[in-house]
Amino acid sequence: MMEACGVFGAYAKSGAAFPYMYWGLLAQNHRGHQSYGFLTLDRGFYEVKALGLIPQVSGWEVKEWLKRLPGNVGVGHVRYATSGLSDVESLRHGAQPAVFEGRLKLALAYNGNVVWCKRPLERPTQSDVEVMGKVLSEAGELEEGVKACMDEVEGAFSAVGLTSDGTLFAFRDPHGIKPLCHGNGGNVYAFSSESVGLNINSIEYLGEVEPGELIKVSEGDVERVKLRPCGNHALCAFEFAYFARPDSILNGRYVYEARVEFGRNLGREYSEIAERLDVILDIPETASDAAYGFHVETGVPWERALRRHRYVTHRAFISSPKERNEIIDKKINVLSSKIRGRRVGVVDDSIVRGDTTRVIVKKLRAAGAREVHLFITFPRIISPCFYGIDMATYGELIGFRHEPEEIAKLIGADSVNYQPIRDFVKATSMRMDELCLGCVTGRYPTPTAQRMADEARRLLESGWSEKGRIYEAIRLGEKP
Ligand code: 5GP
Ligand code: MG
Repeated sequence: MMEACGVFGAYAKSGAAFPYMYWGLLAQNHRGHQSYGFLTLDRGFYEVKALGLIPQVSGWEVKEWLKRLPGNVGVGHVRYATSGLSDVESLRHGAQPAVFEGRLKLALAYNGNVVWCKRPLERPTQSDVEVMGKVLSEAGELEEGVKACMDEVEGAFSAVGLTSDGTLFAFRDPHGIKPLCHGNGGNVYAFSSESVGLNINSIEYLGEVEPGELIKVSEGDVERVKLRPCGNHALCAFEFAYFARPDSILNGRYVYEARVEFGRNLGREYSEIAERLDVILDIPETASDAAYGFHVETGVPWERALRRHRYVTHRAFISSPKERNEIIDKKINVLSSKIRGRRVGVVDDSIVRGDTTRVIVKKLRAAGAREVHLFITFPRIISPCFYGIDMATYGELIGFRHEPEEIAKLIGADSVNYQPIRDFVKATSMRMDELCLGCVTGRYPTPTAQRMADEARRLLESGWSEKGRIYEAIRLGEKP
């Protein structure tokens, strides 16, 4: 049910769509490493889905797929579940694109999370894409179905799909919570979660699919339909800090530029601590650009003395906290002699549960660091995400119960310094009311999410204990 994902769709004038989809998703594999899938249309739908990372192009699979995935149009997906279980069976079942057959037959690849659906569905569904797929396929016609999604489904959805009669389409919820852009490469028209999926294919970036918009592509015609007025744009702020690639464009500029600015802001805001430092480090790679910015602003030498073991994979299939810590420990190597006896600053993009920073601080102490100060580009996370980032309970958020000084104690650092929300927002070049900042303010862009968050917090104060993701508890008829 949790879908922090990447999507890609391609309509080629001539030749196969699959190679575009392959590269477009390989460039976005960071958005989901639990499963991937490709679906094309020729005489019917053809699909390949599997668990794990997309294989390298030299692999035998890719040659095989060129044959198994014919047709000039297709959609694909990489997935990192934020709903449902993460055992192998559930992940297999949850892999996308998914095919739906009602009055309409279509395939759908989807990024986001359903918070609530007004329409009573026959039976409780196991996944968000099923909610979207049902609402779409029960409609007599595509536009009507997408309109129904926008009217009846509350949540984040940036989706690409393909009808069985060969229309490629993409749409985005009225708040545009998850990114989605489109481009034209001459021979091919494409949709991609991030612009890097277009770059790798030499496709020209045209801009965003607008919040509340549907774009349809068939027989070379592109039609844009504004189905819902954009309420507030509420682009996920976490994309800027962590999720998106630095060379992707959000709101007209590189994410890289925002991240450098984050680092500069931290250096300015905490200049007194910066003055004590011998060196500034980054936790690779999502915090590297910000560490560079910190260095530029403060003059503190930036050393890349934390390095990643490149092939230690991400969090896929991690079940227990112990395993999580082991993976973090194995992922990062410390260049000890660069650390010994020094007062070090460390930049990371976010603290969610506090596991990463706790493990890194421990390793730095073991390497002989005299002091360890943390600088965090994403403001303190105090509230869960209902829209597809995997932090869906209050209980797992170290920032919900603790102030920065306490967090520093808990993770063993000398200080923890968060970027203030106003600085963060300014660096994105967006306005406060154009971003979703629910997890750092507790104020959500959609009403049911707000009600759930408020109710869960009230219940927690009266002794209720969360058992799982708040939005799933509600669907199962439990509190809140
Ligand atoms: P924590 O370890 O505090 O729970 O999470 C924060 C760390 O996890 C940061 O270093 C950040 O880069 C990373 N992170 C944040 N969100 C995600 C995610 O959705 N997936 C993975 N693999 N890492 C994440
Ligand atoms: Mg990290």
